[in-house]
Amino acid sequence: MAQLSDDCFAFGGALMRIEDAASLIAARLPVLAGTERVPLAEADGRVAAEDVLAGHDVPPFANSAVDGYAVRYADLDGGGETRLPVLGRLAAGAAPDAVETPGGAVRIFTGAALPPGADTVFMQEDVRREGEAVLLPQGLKRGANARAAGEDVARGERIIPAGRRLVPQDLALAAATGHAELPVRTRLRVALFSTGDELAEPGAPLGSGAIHDSNRVMLAALLVRLGVAVADLGILRDAPEPLARRLAEAARDHDLILTSGGVSAGEEDHVRTAVEAVGHLLFWRLAIKPGRPVAMGLVNGTPFVGLPGNPVAVYVTLLFVVRPLLARLGGANLVPVVPQRVRAAFAYRKKTGRREFVRVTLAPGPDGVIEAHKFPREGAGLLTSLTRSDGLAELPDEATGVVPGDVLAFHPHAALW
Ligand code: AMP
Ligand code: MG
Repeated sequence: MAQLSDDCFAFGGALMRIEDAASLIAARLPVLAGTERVPLAEADGRVAAEDVLAGHDVPPFANSAVDGYAVRYADLDGGGETRLPVLGRLAAGAAPDAVETPGGAVRIFTGAALPPGADTVFMQEDVRREGEAVLLPQGLKRGANARAAGEDVARGERIIPAGRRLVPQDLALAAATGHAELPVRTRLRVALFSTGDELAEPGAPLGSGAIHDSNRVMLAALLVRLGVAVADLGILRDAPEPLARRLAEAARDHDLILTSGGVSAGEEDHVRTAVEAVGHLLFWRLAIKPGRPVAMGLVNGTPFVGLPGNPVAVYVTLLFVVRPLLARLGGANLVPVVPQRVRAAFAYRKKTGRREFVRVTLAPGPDGVIEAHKFPREGAGLLTSLTRSDGLAELPDEATGVVPGDVLAFHPHAALW
């Protein structure tokens, strides 16, 4: 029995798989974010609100990919070297219309529009210049070193799909295709609370039995990286009535309420009771370790998530439960996080029926292959297990454990934000 009560999964009742929680969220909750237009310089990390189409071809005109000589392929001697007079000079940005190639070569520089008729460019390293003529070697293919109009993107082509979280490369493509601003989703407004009578603000002197609130600053930073606007609403004490009142207040002007702590089954865990007083719960137990008690519900129609209290459980459930929820509410496509594959250098036993995330560090094994080493201690309260690990190994629900040599799914920390 001692063994059972030590295990925080020993309480009865079915646990919800994390995929089922995500499906429930997608089925029950709408996109809450609005839309706005922002300049490209402010669009990084935002979610595209509509499909974005190319306003023009990229490149807009045929141009040279190298510094060299532009020619008409038909003017080349198939059987040997070709001597052509140099008829003009085109630098990037120059209008090409003035120069005619037929029967001659044009000195050209990278990015300059090809002159009318030219379709092929010799690199300057490959030719010999003799006064006003250039000697071109045999064997270059038609179209060599020339970039066709629209070869990257054609006008009207979709360059960004609705729901994509914009990355710096998208901004470059949008600029290149004629856009100065983009339609994006407004940032979700997330109300963030910690709960617990033991919590003191960072830096405050600690009374007896008190600890510093460390979850809130981590959650706020993760949420900012996930693109939402965070309202830090402080610490709620362990008493159901004020808790319920503050949650109901926060529901008025936020898209999501997020708390940590107070969602287990202990007598001092009042968050679920408070939510049920001013709203209702959709689920509160997930098949995930660390993290099992995660309460999801609605407070006066506003989505609410109560994360566990232990910092490692907070980290894991924010990234694997709240992140998909934020995607849904924020109108973002949920891009599955694709794990890397690494070899286990440790043995570990787990129960079936729940997803487990094991904190690991990576190092090359004797044969040079990267291996995952389990963080030596297990507690869900160990902050150093997050700062001194490289990421999380994800063990499938049905797995019974890990043996050395197994291939593991590994998420580097930074890939999860
Ligand atoms: P609870 O679920 O409220 O019983 O909390 C579980 C554990 O997490 C307890 O050891 C709490 O003291 C700790 N904890 C809860 N909230 C925080 C917080 N904001 N920062 C640091 N530790 C916390
Ligand atoms: Mg508590």
